[in-house]
Amino acid sequence: MSRLEFNRKTKAAIIARAAGKCEKCAAVLKKGEGEVDHVLPCALGGEPTIANGRLICRVCHVEKTATDIRSIRKADRVRDKSTRAVVPKQKIRSQGFAVSEKAERRQTKVPLPPRPLYREELS
Ligand SMILES: [Zn+2]
Repeated sequence: MSRLEFNRKTKAAIIARAAGKCEKCAAVLKKGEGEVDHVLPCALGGEPTIANGRLICRVCHVEKTATDIRSIRKADRVRDKSTRAVVPKQKIRSQGFAVSEKAERRQTKVPLPPRPLYREELS
């Protein structure tokens, strides 16, 4: 998917709407300062429209980009898992405890034949 940047007209409209202030923290911006940001990032389906754009200061933009990247990565993981594009790692299985010789003998014990219910009297 190619990244859709704001066109010049949209960018100008967003800058005009901001009226020289950061639209996030309200910091006063000099002319030419500030960056046009995608409110909903492109990677998550955000369109390059006036409604999805805002003029924010450099500090806010760096912060916003960091959180965007986190949510984009998360969306990627969720998608990969649901489409089974990535097979989750298998759990490490225990080999179990080593069976000692004594314990093995106990397990393979041969049962005794059943006792007779009565004994013949010896005369
Ligand atoms: Zn700001």
